[in-house]
Amino acid sequence: MKRFKTLRFRFALWTALLLFIVLLLFGSFVYVSLWRGLSNSIDDSIRLSSSQAIAAVNVENGNINISDIYPEGVPSDLRERGLTIRIISKEGVAMASIGPFRNLPIDSNSILNAKAGISSFSTIRVNDSETVRVYTAPIEDNQNIIGFIQVMQSLETLHETLDQLLLLLLISIPALVIISYISGYFLAARTLSPIDQITQMAQKISTKDLSARLNLPGNDDEIGRLANTFDNMLARLEDGFKREHQFTSNASHELRTPLTAMQSILSVTRGRKRSSEEYEKAMDDLSEEIDRMRSLTEDLLYIARGNSLSVAPNEVVDLSILLNDVCEIMQPMAELKRLVIRSNVQSNLSMMGDSDALIRAFVNLLDNAIKYTDRGVILIEARAEKGNNIEIVIADTGRGIDPEHLPHIFERFYRVDESRSTPGFGLGLAIVHEIVRAHRGSIEVTSQVGSGTTFHLHFSGLMKK
Ligand code: ADP
Repeated sequence: MKRFKTLRFRFALWTALLLFIVLLLFGSFVYVSLWRGLSNSIDDSIRLSSSQAIAAVNVENGNINISDIYPEGVPSDLRERGLTIRIISKEGVAMASIGPFRNLPIDSNSILNAKAGISSFSTIRVNDSETVRVYTAPIEDNQNIIGFIQVMQSLETLHETLDQLLLLLLISIPALVIISYISGYFLAARTLSPIDQITQMAQKISTKDLSARLNLPGNDDEIGRLANTFDNMLARLEDGFKREHQFTSNASHELRTPLTAMQSILSVTRGRKRSSEEYEKAMDDLSEEIDRMRSLTEDLLYIARGNSLSVAPNEVVDLSILLNDVCEIMQPMAELKRLVIRSNVQSNLSMMGDSDALIRAFVNLLDNAIKYTDRGVILIEARAEKGNNIEIVIADTGRGIDPEHLPHIFERFYRVDESRSTPGFGLGLAIVHEIVRAHRGSIEVTSQVGSGTTFHLHFSGLMKK
């Protein structure tokens, strides 16, 4: 039963069915055309023979004078064709006749037609297997009907020819249909075999091993493209799974660090009785570690939810106000390091966005600028550009980033300083990147070790007031 559900079975069945219908129509057309053509040519030849026979009839004083149609003997072609010719008097009595069907009863309908001057054909069944075509026409002399002529021919040869054709069709049509079914089945099986391969591979694939590939030899047809798409999809999935795996193990690792620190603070403190100052110091240390954990879990949550869920750029945001607010928020942090934040923000820069997400992005960028700069200035610029674009520049005079690290700084958990001497988890720029992408913007970085780093952000969709 399962076999009947396969695509190759259905394909073969449909091909065979279509061919059967086409052959049936074609066969019927050929059969009917041949039948009509042969019937017409028999009728034509009977009509011609009748005219020739009428010309040979001897007419005297308006009467037919005949005892034998061909006193000198029946012409050989008439005999060969098996024609029967019968001359009938005005009263409907046979006067003279030759041929195999001369004793056939005279059909009164045809004689009635002929009396009215109409020549007609009729078909008469002689016995079970044989029918005869009969042509009846009036014989006229000076526009008076003086008798009738009947010419008859057996239709046996016609039926024999048609029966042979029918037999040929009855044998060849089923044979061709069977051949088409078998070849259709094998053709479909051959064409669809890569799909079987895809199915088997898909059954084998699990999240543990996504390395399998079809690698079908270069076919640019539909199946080839499907296999290629499948391979590409597997590659993307494998890449995605690897990154997720990496993300989870990095996240666990980062979470373990403050937990271990908290555990060691607790065990050291509980090792012996402590003074109240020492307990206070331990509490402060614990609270610091808890802060670290909270900030990390917030970042992780933000990334884990995915930008499509957490960023909704559907409100009008005045970037000029927003950037000045961010500068104000970050000012105390900068002052702690004796840094100057200089802002040069054009007014009335509005666009559609998610203000919370944008604040988070700019705070992250300024936080980095402050964190990685020991002296100098942090510059924030924002201006309208050609074509309704907005450009935002955040530049610092800090330690800079080595060119080998630059391509990776937007990756999750990527940190240039492996020694972890500066606080951070390597998630800040990954979050900035996601937020900018969710706003259909772009972010680029240029940096020079020892002289500073500059981030360029571009957004489209500046709203004019
Ligand atoms: P982190 O929490 O380590 O700051 P980020 O994703 O924000 O993580 O940044 C990734 C890395 O890029 C940082 O570890 C730092 O080495 C580098 N970086 C980011 N911003 C700056 C900057 N303004 N100046 C120098 N280095 C920077």
